[in-house]
This record gives sequence, C-alpha cells and structure tokens, in this order.
Amino acid sequence: MSSLPTIDEARARVLDAVTALGLEEIPVAQALDRALAEDVIAGHDIPRFSNSAMDGFAVRAPAAGRTLRIVGEARAGAPATVAVGDGEAVRISTGAAMPDGAQTVVPVERTDESDGEVTLQARAGARAGQHVRGPGEDLRAGATVLRAGCRLGPAELGLAVEAGRATLRCARVPRVGVLATGDELIAPGEPLGPGQLHDSNVVALAALTRRAGAEVVLTEHVGDDAKATRDAIARALGTADVVVLTGGVSVGPHDHVKPALAALGVEEVLWRVALRPGKPLWFGRDEQRLVFGLPGNPVSAMVTFLLFARPALDALQGLPAPPVRTRAVLTEAVARVGEREDCVRVRLVGDRATPTGPQGSHMLSSMLGADALAIIPRGEGDLPAGAAVEIELI
Ligand code: AMP
Ligand code: MG
Repeated sequence: MSSLPTIDEARARVLDAVTALGLEEIPVAQALDRALAEDVIAGHDIPRFSNSAMDGFAVRAPAAGRTLRIVGEARAGAPATVAVGDGEAVRISTGAAMPDGAQTVVPVERTDESDGEVTLQARAGARAGQHVRGPGEDLRAGATVLRAGCRLGPAELGLAVEAGRATLRCARVPRVGVLATGDELIAPGEPLGPGQLHDSNVVALAALTRRAGAEVVLTEHVGDDAKATRDAIARALGTADVVVLTGGVSVGPHDHVKPALAALGVEEVLWRVALRPGKPLWFGRDEQRLVFGLPGNPVSAMVTFLLFARPALDALQGLPAPPVRTRAVLTEAVARVGEREDCVRVRLVGDRATPTGPQGSHMLSSMLGADALAIIPRGEGDLPAGAAVEIELI
C-alpha cells in the first residue's frame, strides 16, 4: 500500500488532466462568484475628477473667519457654471465636481449663512485641499484593478464598474453531474425500510459543487446494477464537464462503477490514494471530461471532493489550484494511521486546530463546523498536542 500516491501526488495527476474551459463575456451584474479571465484596467482615474467629500462651501483658499458671497452651486452630477473668485463661495454637495478656482471645502456645519452670504467660523480650518478628493486617489488611469484568475466578489464587481466596465470576460461555469450509487439509498424524507438510509451524498456534493462556482446540471440515484450504472454515467457524460459519482467504487460484487467506466471507455488516471478517509478514490477522464468516483461513506465523499474535485473545478475555471496550505498547531494529540495521510476535520481559533470530535468516515457530524482539514502525516503513534501540521481551509 505504500506505493499508493500521496494526496499531493494524486492531486497533481488530477490537475494534469484538466484543460481549462472556454471563456465568455458576461454582464458585470451577473458575474458574482465567476472566475475572471482577463485583467481589468482602470479606463480613467478613480475618482475621475476632483470632487467634494462634504456638503458645504467650496472656497478659494484658507479663509477662516471671512464672510464670502455665494455665487453659485455645484451638485453631484451638475457642476457649477461659475468659477470661485476671491471673496466668493460656491455651495457644494458631496460628490460634486470642485468648481474652477476653489481649493478647499468648508463643511456646512462650520458656516453661518444669511442673505446670500456665508461666514466661515473661526475654527473652520479650511486648509488648502481639505475635504477634497483628488482624481486618481483610489486608482490611477491604466492601473490594474483586477487580475485574471480571481473569483469575483461584490467588491470586485463594484470596482469593475468603476473602472468603466459593463461586461467581463469569465471562464465558462463547469457543468457537473452528481450520481449516487447504492441499492440502500432512499430519497430525502422518504420512509426507510430495513437496511436503507437516506442519500445524503447527492445533496452534500451538489452543495459543494455550487460552492466551488460550478453548476449542477444533473443529479441521479442508481441502484447497484451494472447496466443502470453504465446508462446513468453515459447520460451524465452527455451533458456534464465533470461527473461526480459516489459509492460502488470498491471491488465488492455489487460495486459497478469501475467496470461501467471501463466499458464506457473512460480512461483511468488514478485509483486509490494513501489517504484516510477516502482511500478508494477513482479518477479518470473521457477526452476533456473529468470523472470522479468518490467513496460512498459521507465523510470520505466530502473530503475527497474537497481535496481533488474542488481544485479540479478551480483549474477548469482558470483559478489557481491546488489550494494554498498553511500551518496550525494541534490542541490535542492525534493518532497517526501508518501508511496513509489522515485528513482530520478541525476547528480553528487563530492558528490552533482542534479536531471536531470522533472522526469515523461514516460520521458526518465530524464535518459540522469544520474550518479546515488538518493533514496528519504518515507514521506510527500519536502526534502530540502542540505539534504543527499543514492545513487546508474548507
Ligand atoms: P460504498 O462505497 O458503496 O461501499 O458505500 C460505503 C458506505 O457509504 C456504505 O455504508 C453506504 O451505505 C454509504 N453510502 C454510499 N452512498 C451513500 C450516499 N449517497 N449517501 C449516504 N451514504 C452513502
Ligand atoms: Mg455501495
């Protein structure tokens, strides 16, 4: 078993098989969570023009204590039509362009107004440039605002608009089919007969898929039957970029996934990883389509998805993969499992990692509240409390 690939080796083989999906131009308002495929350059200075940071009066120079004649108004979107001369002020709103001749804004709270005149209070300050936002203060024209290979969040979308963009070139969203295999599986909420259980994997894996920025185009449950398994995989391959199967990937008499994939001509890239949970992971490709045969145990299915399928979905979208590993310190001893790396689900407080509780591969509660997978290296005996381990954020 020591010849089985490590997590890193297996992941490298998975990522090797990935060809990034094509690109498409989409309206910026629809681009949340999409993978950006181009650099976004500021088309102009941001802010574009010198403007007021306050409601008040635009004046020529430091002028505390003086009484000035109000000669016009500058509003957001409607600049003043007059310049500000000596002894003059222009009423100005936040965001309005600074009138010609004005260097300073005196906030309205620091002024007294009567009969078309405004008196600046003695404590009005009015340093040159005060309460004025200069052009390019946020970003200069020509600056790179966003880089290709980032995931677009709310701030990225807002900045793209500020940079002048209405559309963005993004990676196509991966289309994913999720198939559960097993005679024992029953749809959520349906009554259970003897030996049956609810199919939790399809729901959890579809949710992980969406979190990875991909689209679930098909979910299906198939029994432990060779032809049904073949047919379901063929259907999924007909519509998806990535097929995620769970269960039936071992070598028991009722495990039909591997033979079905072989019959369909899906090329095996990887079978089994020196990993717990999730040793019986299968991965293969059918031209550019990727197929993951994840183990049926719910924790194994989720962990192998996180370790292998999620980075593949990232890479399909041109995002950096694999994930960056950081380090944390175990708050309690963890038993090592010999020849396999162990992915212990942990909660993080700062850099302190505490296992979520019992870690059986069937104990889905161990995923609850987990912030990261702690990668416990191969070896014998306990890794003591205080030991530093590598972690991957979930
Ligand atoms: P298998 O990989 O098919 O041998 O299944 C391993 C274990 O995972 C068995 O206890 C199955 O009942 C369980 N299992 C398989 N598929 C699912 C699923 N979709 N949802 C929940 N448990 C499952
Ligand atoms: Mg099964």
